[in-house]
Amino acid sequence: MAKNSKIAIIGGGPGGLMLGLLLQQRGYQFTIFEKSDGHNHESQGGSLDIHGDTGQVPLKEAGLIDEFNKLARFEGEDTKIVDSTGKVHYEDDADGQGDRPEIDRGALCDLIRSHIDPTSIKYDYQFDRMEQLKNGDCEVSFSNGYSEKFNYVIGSDGAFSKVRTYLSDTDIVYTGISMIEINIENISEEHPELLKYNKNGKMMALAQDKGLLAQLNGDDSIKVYVSYRMTESELDAYKLLSHNGLQARLLSDFEQWDEQLLNYIHNMSDRVLFRRIYRLPIGFKWSTNQSITLIGDAAHLMSPFAGEGVNMALYDAYLFVKSLDQYENQPEIIENYERAMYEISSNSAYDSQSNLELMFSEQAAKKLGDMFSPLQ
Ligand SMILES: Cc1cc2nc3c(=O)[nH]c(=O)nc-3n(C[C@H](O)[C@H](O)[C@H](O)COP(=O)(O)OP(=O)(O)OC[C@H]3O[C@@H](n4cnc5c(N)ncnc54)[C@H](O)[C@@H]3O)c2cc1C
Repeated sequence: MAKNSKIAIIGGGPGGLMLGLLLQQRGYQFTIFEKSDGHNHESQGGSLDIHGDTGQVPLKEAGLIDEFNKLARFEGEDTKIVDSTGKVHYEDDADGQGDRPEIDRGALCDLIRSHIDPTSIKYDYQFDRMEQLKNGDCEVSFSNGYSEKFNYVIGSDGAFSKVRTYLSDTDIVYTGISMIEINIENISEEHPELLKYNKNGKMMALAQDKGLLAQLNGDDSIKVYVSYRMTESELDAYKLLSHNGLQARLLSDFEQWDEQLLNYIHNMSDRVLFRRIYRLPIGFKWSTNQSITLIGDAAHLMSPFAGEGVNMALYDAYLFVKSLDQYENQPEIIENYERAMYEISSNSAYDSQSNLELMFSEQAAKKLGDMFSPLQ
């Protein structure tokens, strides 16, 4: 592809930013269009574990791995799996040598963004529609009235991708799991007992098609995904409750659970988000288009239960530029990228779905514990 080809990246999450940086380092012309003002990462979840064999690969390629290692929490790999009685089915205190350290989503995005020429990122640009011209180029229009022609359009616009609708009619489906995301703040000063129980990483309490999935974040808070197997509409009833009403409802839903686990709910702040978990079909593909493709959640939305989503988004950016390094013409670059991306992401999507089924089944804590330590 000619270096003066114009590339639009729609969406400035981890995937879009990583792609932008790798393109910049190769001297390509690109613009990242992001609908938000660039400051709010809260709505996309908290701490993410970045895997050595996928998510860290593009960070190394971009020369950011030393900076990443300084920001990453290697102690954040502490993992504990318990059932509703508090019985521990697996426990592993990180030795700081693991290859899946944790980083907050905001810190990860800021790290990548800090190396991108700021004039290449346009905030408050919400992709609205595009028209593909006879020569394959795309006229892209944004909600603020701006439009521009590009040779390539790469959709990194996440779960509810609009770019995806130009490649396929396939839509995301509800997984049957909804989450209420609660937070416990100032954990080291105000809730040292809870911190001692939770430790520095993940605490997963699972039973009866429900879960309390807690994770220490870098801002001295613990984020807990209070998770349920429920119909898509059931979450609405929770959204209507006042803060006290919601807290009472959660305590009643987990009534018989161990007191140490209920402490997470007792100490919840008013920072709450409601999430329905969606996914694309495992193995989702589309007919290759010479100018338009997808990376990250837009291409392969999966549930978060294997911790793969952000790793795949970052790795897609790497696969795309590797294809760019290797091939010269437009259809070949995209075809080769998509082939490699389908292969790896379909495995992750399969693992995510298997973990979902396991984590919301009878004896879930025992089964997950056995999976983590098959020899015990
Ligand atoms: C509750 C929860 C917990 C998770 N935990 C983990 C985990 O532990 N590990 C893990 O690997 N993954 C996890 N994930 C998944 C992970 O957050 C995603 O896979 C990852 O963020 C995908 O990156 P992305 O860049 O493809 O998309 P996103 O992060 O969704 O970024 C998309 C960007 O596009 C922008 N955008 C959207 N529409 C438009 C538009 N029309 N125009 C312009 N911009 C637009 C958005 O504002 C956003 O900035 C979790 C997800 C959830 C919901």
